Amino acid sequence: MPREKFYKQGLKFGCTECGQCCSHPDGVVELTRQDMENMAEYLAMDVGDFREKFILKAQKDDIFELNSYENGDCIFLEEGRCQVYPVRPVQCRTYPFWPEIVKSAYRWNAAAQVCPGIGEGRVWSGEEIEALVKQMRRRK
Ligand code: SF4
Ligand code: SF4
Repeated sequence: MPREKFYKQGLKFGCTECGQCCSHPDGVVELTRQDMENMAEYLAMDVGDFREKFILKAQKDDIFELNSYENGDCIFLEEGRCQVYPVRPVQCRTYPFWPEIVKSAYRWNAAAQVCPGIGEGRVWSGEEIEALVKQMRRRK
């Protein structure tokens, strides 16, 4: 019998907009082709120009790595705010409900060390979390 998902009863999360998840020296922000098209359109740019200006490299499976500043800040982080928030990539929209983070209480609590929104705000239902987890999985 499959084990019950750790998040089945829901988890509390409310983003404090601290911007910490947008700034990490070892962090990588990955875009799908759809993310890239959405962001280019939002910025009224040609996709080719967007790619040249903001993409560090193309990875496998149609995933593109976003450029960052030397200190690890995402290229779209300005004064602690995301400049493309309405069209931010799937990776950003689904955080912290990533498959690897909601896998266990241990991992969820470890993520809380870097994300102050974990344990705050409203309860996200198991179904809501499952939908976000699936979005991240589909991306691969
Ligand atoms: S680290 Fe957490 S609380 Fe801070 S901006 Fe990111 S998601 Fe929001
Ligand atoms: S795209 Fe926006 S939300 Fe995503 S890491 Fe960059 S600044 Fe943060």
